[in-house]
Amino acid sequence: MTSHPETIYLDHAATTPCDPRVVEAMLPYFTTMFGNPGSRNHRFGWDSEAAVDKAREQVARLLGADEKEIIFTSGATESNNLAIKGAAYLYEKAPAGSMNRGHIITSIIEHKAVLDPCKRLQKEGFEVTFLEPPQDGVITAEMVKAAMREDTILVSLMWANNEIGTINEIPEIGALCHERGVIFHTDATQWAGKMPTDVEKAQVDLLSMSGHKIYGPKGVGALYVRRRKPRVRLQALADGGGQERGFRSGTLNVTGIVGLGKACEIAMAEMEKDAARLIQLRDRVEKTITSQLDSCQVNGHATKRLPHITNISFGFVEGEGLMMAIKDIACSSGSACTSASLEPSYVLKGLGVGDELAHSSLRLSMGKWTTPEQVEYATAKIVEAVKRLREMSPLYDMHKEGIDLSKVEWAHH
Ligand SMILES: *Cc1c(COP(=O)(O)O)cnc(C)c1O
Repeated sequence: MTSHPETIYLDHAATTPCDPRVVEAMLPYFTTMFGNPGSRNHRFGWDSEAAVDKAREQVARLLGADEKEIIFTSGATESNNLAIKGAAYLYEKAPAGSMNRGHIITSIIEHKAVLDPCKRLQKEGFEVTFLEPPQDGVITAEMVKAAMREDTILVSLMWANNEIGTINEIPEIGALCHERGVIFHTDATQWAGKMPTDVEKAQVDLLSMSGHKIYGPKGVGALYVRRRKPRVRLQALADGGGQERGFRSGTLNVTGIVGLGKACEIAMAEMEKDAARLIQLRDRVEKTITSQLDSCQVNGHATKRLPHITNISFGFVEGEGLMMAIKDIACSSGSACTSASLEPSYVLKGLGVGDELAHSSLRLSMGKWTTPEQVEYATAKIVEAVKRLREMSPLYDMHKEGIDLSKVEWAHH
């Protein structure tokens, strides 16, 4: 499944390979079935429209929604933008230029594709509360309730976190929002397709998802928009042909949409079996690492989390050095050393993980085709690398000698 057999891919939270069954379903729509689904008066258009209709049903079924409630987009980033800005502009309490156009609740550990639209709205006159989770990373309904105000118009909280895999109290938050008449959006990019999803039971009004996180193609996603109890409206962000009930203009990405639909169908059929296997792999990783190394911690809630993600911080090693030592393992680091900033992961910092431990953390995310052998190799490699790096660490020596490093007074230079 990989073009780099020497590198083990443990970064499925960043993206997944496309399932060959998905590719097969997509292929005809590049060539013979190339019609524009908006072409209403010939065969080519009708065939494409039928394919899009089928995909809409497949996505809807995965979410427990009606197919009329599915809007196709270019991915979760666009879905989040459309949901958050589209709802804010439509449900605002006062027009642009007012002191307070309405109150929005989100959290500091959301994906940037939620944080940045919220920050933009803040600049445009909306008031935004950024909830801070406790150390376990779980946002509870209690926390949302305490932040609710008379002028709250929108709550946007992810179903599950992409860095630590923790699961928020989405059905409880959904019930609270509906009780208060507040629109509820959830970024379910890491959740939908991996875990059973029911927008009715969870009382979600708007839900974002993406193809490439669930073995579908990149550049396609969906936004669920509730049509009854309540009927949710959005202000479109782009003007144009009025496709997707006017919410999202632009010729539909038919091949991508067909792929997304197929990926949803497969996810629906296989998620239970996959999850059981992934939990075993994840637990194996954690058990091996924590039993063979001291001074490391698994970040986030112990049980309220996704099957395929683990995030581990290693004390007394430097993040960059660790990544260099495990170059044949494709995974993510809490250290943003590749970007211009030296800031470690804002998600880990948001949980109160110190800068040092945040820098020296790894996110390992397993997938459908990850084997026990790959996991074993990767964990052995990580354990070996950490041990080797610690051999060179004077701080680790001091720690082993029982010196409490938090009480050491460092000389400044
Ligand atoms: C990957 C991801 C996104 C962005 O999805 P795209 O389809 O790549 O735009 C948004 N939110 C979460 C939680 C993600 O994991």
